Amino acid sequence: MEKHTLSIVTGASRGIGKAIAIRLAKEGHTLMLFGRDHAALEDVRKIVSSLGIESQMFIGDLTDKNFIDNSVNNIIDDYGKIDNLINNAGIGILNKFVESSIDEFKKQMDVNLFAVYNFTKAVVNNMIEHRGGTIINISSLAGKNSFVGGTMYSATKHALMGFTRSLMLELREYNIRVIAICPGSVNTDFNPKREKVPNSGKILLAEDVAETVAMAIKLPISAMASEIDLRPTNPK
Ligand code: NAP
Repeated sequence: MEKHTLSIVTGASRGIGKAIAIRLAKEGHTLMLFGRDHAALEDVRKIVSSLGIESQMFIGDLTDKNFIDNSVNNIIDDYGKIDNLINNAGIGILNKFVESSIDEFKKQMDVNLFAVYNFTKAVVNNMIEHRGGTIINISSLAGKNSFVGGTMYSATKHALMGFTRSLMLELREYNIRVIAICPGSVNTDFNPKREKVPNSGKILLAEDVAETVAMAIKLPISAMASEIDLRPTNPK
């Protein structure tokens, strides 16, 4: 049987994750699509399917470790080998510190950091066994920079950078690439306070991030773009 590249995309129901799923479908990857919104994920699955690509949907909350473990076990039972994990799902509550709460902070840590830890843990032994794989964490320039309203979100992405950089050093001996992609603002529904702007080139598009993911995967397996900052070329 011909073996296809298998990629898992979290947060594939909309925004950047949806664009990544569609872009990787165009590369011919078999796709495992994760999200909570069944109808939105079904729409993505239909697009992927129209490109002639096999996919499966996994509907559930990534803060539920059992959901992650059971889903990954099913994928391994069905397909054997996981090639790529794209940890994209994330949330941002951009309140100023005085208006923030520990519950909002914990909620963001649960999705932006602990779900990435749990998902990576669930796939890593399969990748080590096969001596290869690529793990891409969609971080943010907020993982490197500070901004007003960022005490919670920026802290989660800084933590994700520390996790990703250390993991990269640990897993490279198994030919596993661990990559952080750090976009600036992207034109999605992520931040409800930000007005959606038409495609002006002044803000990144979800498709720009998806192209970067495809590019990072397509590099020879012996080469790793371990950290990519992505900005609009001309934001003025
Ligand atoms: P988005 O449009 O709000 O989409 C977020 C995705 O994450 C959705 O598919 C959502 O799934 C999923 N998700 C959130 N919480 C989840 C949970 N508890 N369980 C399962 N899935 C969950 O956001 P986006 O702009 O595409 O952001 C994607 C990633 O890029 C995030 O990690 C974000 O931090 C990062 N990023 C975004 C920007 C930006 O300006 N947009 C900039 C830099 C980095 P459901 O809708 O199905 O629940």
